[in-house]
Amino acid sequence: MSSLRTTALALTGFGVPATVASAEIRELSPGERLRRGLGAAGLGLLLAILTLPIPIVHFVFPLVALVGGLVLGVRRFGQGELFHRVEGPCPFCGRDGRWGLTHAPVKLPRELSCPACRKTLELEAPRTGG
Ligand SMILES: [Zn+2]
Repeated sequence: MSSLRTTALALTGFGVPATVASAEIRELSPGERLRRGLGAAGLGLLLAILTLPIPIVHFVFPLVALVGGLVLGVRRFGQGELFHRVEGPCPFCGRDGRWGLTHAPVKLPRELSCPACRKTLELEAPRTGG
């Protein structure tokens, strides 16, 4: 089973002090990672089979779908952690709320755009010390 852990991350913007975001991160079990990976590869295989009888399309698309599904499957298998929820105030305008990262793979730093002030900010690991 997957487990949730909560961690503090930093929301930083150019020229403004960073704010603290609270992030819930879902850690995937090896079984869940395998299922996610096989799901993507299976979808590629299914698309390849479905497009095989279509004239002209069958020259390119099935191969692309197979390779794409495999690449996506390997990438998804490699993702051990997903964001469950990220909340915190925007460092520019102070808008407090969620950042719409649910089910996105955890990769830091990550660029975000504030829906209120439309400025670009970054979600980063918190800076320790200093
Ligand atoms: Zn903002």
